[in-house]
Amino acid sequence: MSDKTVLVVEDEPGIAELVRFSLTTVGYSVQIASNARTARIFLAKHLPHAMILDWMLPDESGIKLLRDLRADKRTKMLPILMLTARSQEQDKVSGLDAGADDYLTKPFSPTELQARLRALLRRGLPQFSNEILAVEDLVLDPIKHRLSYANQPIDLGPTEFKLLRTLMMHPGRVFSRQQLLDLIWGDAVLVEERTVDVHILRLRKSLHPYGIEEKIRTVRGVGYSFGNK
Ligand code: CA
Repeated sequence: MSDKTVLVVEDEPGIAELVRFSLTTVGYSVQIASNARTARIFLAKHLPHAMILDWMLPDESGIKLLRDLRADKRTKMLPILMLTARSQEQDKVSGLDAGADDYLTKPFSPTELQARLRALLRRGLPQFSNEILAVEDLVLDPIKHRLSYANQPIDLGPTEFKLLRTLMMHPGRVFSRQQLLDLIWGDAVLVEERTVDVHILRLRKSLHPYGIEEKIRTVRGVGYSFGNK
């Protein structure tokens, strides 16, 4: 059970109720806002633990609200799951680039929603810390700048190291190429998105001798993530 508050911004009553039911069953406290304006009023007074945001709202687009929340210091780090009726890949990319942490396409099952929200609350947002990252036998030490698999050192270039570190910090999270560019190269540098693909390829090559290159997953049309599946 959880005592966390989730703000659900959704104008379709049926979906809002489904989300409310799915989340209250597992102990979340749910607040529903049926438009962006109500959501803004609620957020001015309360900061929920997470937010579920519909793409198409009656008064403004969910993307616009999302961008504004990300530009505001107070809500910059709020975990946000985007709900969308659209399944076009371009929309997923736009959602992620605008600052959504994850997205879920309608229709979805209560179980899937619960799992996504749980993962979102667990992993938080991309932040760099100096902790050693270990996933099974793969160990990355950011201070010593070392990577090993089953105690065998693996040589990586500096960019591949940063890429792997970013992906390993949030297993299962999908990063768009633009997000990876921003996180690794910084937004001041003009680098093409396919540069990310080149470095992912190099990273996979370095992991290949250990049979773990598939840990770097391609999410078709969207970007990359780390983990099994
Ligand atoms: Ca809607």
